[in-house]
Amino acid sequence: MSLFRQSTPTSFSAEEVSSASLASRRALLKMGCACCFALAAPYALADAMTPEVERHLAAAKQAAGTDLEALLVLGRSADPNFKAPTPDLAKLIALSAPPPGKAFDNLYFVGGKWVSAWALTTSDGIILFDAMNNDDDAERTIEQGLKTLGLDPSHVKTIIVTHGHGDHYGGAGHFARKYGSRVVLSETDWTMMETKLEFDHPLWGRPPKRDVGVADGGKVRLGDATVDILITPGHTMGTISPIFEVRSGSQKHRALLWGGTAFNFGRNPDRLQAYVDATARAREIARQQGVDVFISNHSGYDGSVEKLAALASGGANPFVLGAATVERALTVMNECAQAVLTSWKA
Ligand SMILES: [Zn+2]
Repeated sequence: MSLFRQSTPTSFSAEEVSSASLASRRALLKMGCACCFALAAPYALADAMTPEVERHLAAAKQAAGTDLEALLVLGRSADPNFKAPTPDLAKLIALSAPPPGKAFDNLYFVGGKWVSAWALTTSDGIILFDAMNNDDDAERTIEQGLKTLGLDPSHVKTIIVTHGHGDHYGGAGHFARKYGSRVVLSETDWTMMETKLEFDHPLWGRPPKRDVGVADGGKVRLGDATVDILITPGHTMGTISPIFEVRSGSQKHRALLWGGTAFNFGRNPDRLQAYVDATARAREIARQQGVDVFISNHSGYDGSVEKLAALASGGANPFVLGAATVERALTVMNECAQAVLTSWKA
C-alpha cells in the first residue's frame, strides 16, 4: 500500500540501544520514565531558551489550542532548567481503574487510570491493544472489564502490544496462557525485549514469549477487521501505532492509536529525530486516510476516561475529533519533539 512507504532511514539502529552500557541503562532506569505518561504540570517558557526553541514551543501551543493541552507536557524538557519528576510506578499501577466503557460499536476501553487497554471487536473475536502491567491487571481490570461490558475474555484472539515496555506487555502472558491469545509486536521490539530491555520494574509481568512479529505496512486481520501496522519509531524503535476502522451506527471512522508518546530515552538526538520524522509521516498518512479519531494508550494524553463519562451522558461522540484535530495533535507532538531536539543542539 503506497501510503505505507518506507520511512526515511535514520542513523539510529536498535543496536545502539542493545549496546548501551550498563551504566547508561541504570541511568535510564533511575529516570523512572519507564512509563509513558507522568502526571505533571505544564511547562513555562524559560529565559534560557533560544528563539528557535521558543518558536517550536509556540507552534506546539498554537496547535494544541485548549483541547489538546495534555500533549504539551512533551515540550517541558526543552527548558534547560526543567527537572523531570520521578514517577512512582507502584502508585500509578495501584490507582483504581475507571469503569470500562464503549467508545464505539466495535471499540471498548478496558484499561486503568494510568495505562490503557482497548478491545476491538470483530466477527471472529477480539483484538486487544495492550495488556497493562501484569497478570493482576489482566485479570482484574481487562478481563473483568470485558465481562462487565458483556464481552467474553476467552474471545481475545490477538493482542497487539504497541511497544516493548512492561506497562503494555506485562499482562499479555496471562491471556496467552489462559486463552491461547496470539501476541503481536514489531520485530524490532521483540528483539529489544529478548536482548536487552530498555526498562524493567518488579511489578511488571515478564515479557511474553516471542510470537507474531510485524513490520511497517503490515496488516493484522481478524474476522471482518483489518488493522494497519504503522511503525512510529522514537518512544521505542519499533513502536506500533495501529490504524483501524471504528463504527458508530451507520457512521464509519478511521482511528489512529498512538503507540508511544513520551521522550523517555535519555538524551539521544538520533532517536528524537526518529520521533520527529515519525510524527510528520503519521500526520501525512492520517491526512491521506481521513483519520478522524486519535486515541492513546495512556488516558492522560487523550482524556479517554473523561470522554467515556461524557459519552455515557449522551450527545456527540467526543472520541470523533475530526481530521483537522488529529493533524493538530500530531503537530503538537512533532513541534514539542523539535523544540527538545533543538534545545539539545543549542
Ligand atoms: Zn513506553
